[in-house]
Amino acid sequence: MPVDATAAYDPDNIFARILRGEIPCRKVYEDEHALAFHDINPQAPHHILVIPKGAYVSWDDFSARAGDAEIAGFVRAVGHVAREAGLVAPGYRLLANSGPDSHQEVPHLHVHIFGGRPLGPMLA
Ligand code: C5P
Repeated sequence: MPVDATAAYDPDNIFARILRGEIPCRKVYEDEHALAFHDINPQAPHHILVIPKGAYVSWDDFSARAGDAEIAGFVRAVGHVAREAGLVAPGYRLLANSGPDSHQEVPHLHVHIFGGRPLGPMLA
């Protein structure tokens, strides 16, 4: 069910529960700003989700409310995870669904990293 990206943050959404350690994940990386883990339903050989530690519903919410250090830390974490996965030379795709039209399903900002095979043209 796509989320309402304008709704208040739900502290019991599944990624908030993963951040609190209430639900397991296959962790790839963690620092003060971000947690990265393998997507439970991978759409490519590499399919990693990177989420900020702060409570942000969507890309829109994050880009509007997060502090500069949080934004910089999160962007650097995404790059670090892609590099550590060996995806720089072959290339990779970043995707952040934001709101109902995008079919965002989990109401905590997440950036998908896809790689490990030719991904084809962007779908819009
Ligand atoms: O961008 P969107 O909200 O549609 O993506 C949510 C993603 O979260 C899906 O790719 C889904 O497989 C993943 N997921 C996960 N672990 C969970 C619940 C969802 O990796 N426990």
